[in-house]
Amino acid sequence: MSRDIEARRARESEMVTEMIGLYCRAHHGKTGALCPECAALADYARARSARCPRMAEKTFCSSCPHPCYAPAMREGIRRVMRWAGPRMLLRHPVWALRHVANTLRHKWRPHRSEEIA
Ligand SMILES: [Zn+2]
Repeated sequence: MSRDIEARRARESEMVTEMIGLYCRAHHGKTGALCPECAALADYARARSARCPRMAEKTFCSSCPHPCYAPAMREGIRRVMRWAGPRMLLRHPVWALRHVANTLRHKWRPHRSEEIA
């Protein structure tokens, strides 16, 4: 079991890094490295994944019923997820569908009134 959890942990780190990369390229015009703000967010997200004690019961931090992100980082990652989520569906359909199923199970409701920057 723990090997499976470690695989999920690695996968989550990989996906969050990719999503932030997509977001940064589209919004901040970066083609290579992330901008400082996105790099900080990616580091933070990876650090949270590395320490997450709930890896077995969630597929991703944004669908976790017990989020551990600091408020500012949580806003940042949610903005990235909202924008990058639909794009990940095309790039990684199996992973994305699994995530959507998990998200629905936790009844996460998107805030449609919030503007996507
Ligand atoms: Zn950026």
